[in-house]
Amino acid sequence: LAKLNHRGGTLIYKKEMLSYAKKRLQRLEELRYDFVKQKIFLAYQPIYNIQKKRLSGLEALMRWEHKEGEFVSPTEFIPLAEQSGFINRLGRWAILQALEKLNWLHNSGWPNIKMAINLSVLQLQQPDLITELTNAIQEFNIPPEYIELEITESVAMKDFEQNLKVLNELKKLGIKLALDDFGTGFSSLSFLRDLPIDRIKIDKHFIQNIDLIGGKEFIELIIQLGHTLDMSVTAEGIETIEQLNRLHSLNCDCIQGFYFAKPMAKEILLNWLNEHSNL
Ligand code: C2E
Ligand code: MG
Ligand code: MG
Ligand code: MG
Repeated sequence: LAKLNHRGGTLIYKKEMLSYAKKRLQRLEELRYDFVKQKIFLAYQPIYNIQKKRLSGLEALMRWEHKEGEFVSPTEFIPLAEQSGFINRLGRWAILQALEKLNWLHNSGWPNIKMAINLSVLQLQQPDLITELTNAIQEFNIPPEYIELEITESVAMKDFEQNLKVLNELKKLGIKLALDDFGTGFSSLSFLRDLPIDRIKIDKHFIQNIDLIGGKEFIELIIQLGHTLDMSVTAEGIETIEQLNRLHSLNCDCIQGFYFAKPMAKEILLNWLNEHSNL
């Protein structure tokens, strides 16, 4: 604090803040512009049920190709979009894209595939979310139980009562809900019990640390907790056969990760699916 009150210190501090804010603003402008230019698209990552030994579904992940071959990570632009409110437009677009794709897949020889879509907390607070989803489900003629909306643990905690109401309405539509990045936030067990959640997704951070002391036990506990609460459990970030085998032996239901498949652009997705039609 003393340093900040010092004149020179304050100046430098302010300058840095300003250029940081400017850069972010510029990035946001680029995002809006590129969105209109259709440089945002969805990639789809397959999710595999290791117990039933079959493909479970896909997760839609946003991609931004800012310049040719130059991608901006969603971990950068999603928070930016969230802070500016642009996420509502982006998120609405993603839902429609993903559901259109799902309908197409259901009619292209993959009638049992599910689609997971990430949902921002801000979207939960949009008054027309339920109406839009209801309309989209009708328009694309999709059985709602094939749709899974992923919300992050931190999201589940903010404005809990209000969010819970919306989540219950989504459940009434027949849509499935997953708690994403589980273990990274600070949700209490009672939150988990009270949320109408069908699935827990264990964050990849825990998979990467499986060999640290207590790492395996921690994962095992999450899986047991999920099953006790009648939820399915997916492990994210599976990169090796060893990790897959261990998650299988720990009774994890599904896995997602580069070992099984990377997120793919829609142009190559159907090829991949057809090459893996034994799944
Ligand atoms: P997430 O929902 O937890 O998605 C899983 C992330 O793990 C994805 O990162 C995916 O590419 C990555 N991943 C999958 N398998 C592996 C693996 O084996 N190893 C490693 N190291 N990573 C793996 P991605 O695509 O960069 O997305 C990051 C986050 O951005 C997502 O995390 C999600 O929170 C957010 N996001 C992406 N698309 C959307 C969207 O359409 N809407 C919203 N609200 N958020 C999104
Ligand atoms: Mg997700
Ligand atoms: Mg996750
Ligand atoms: Mg994540």
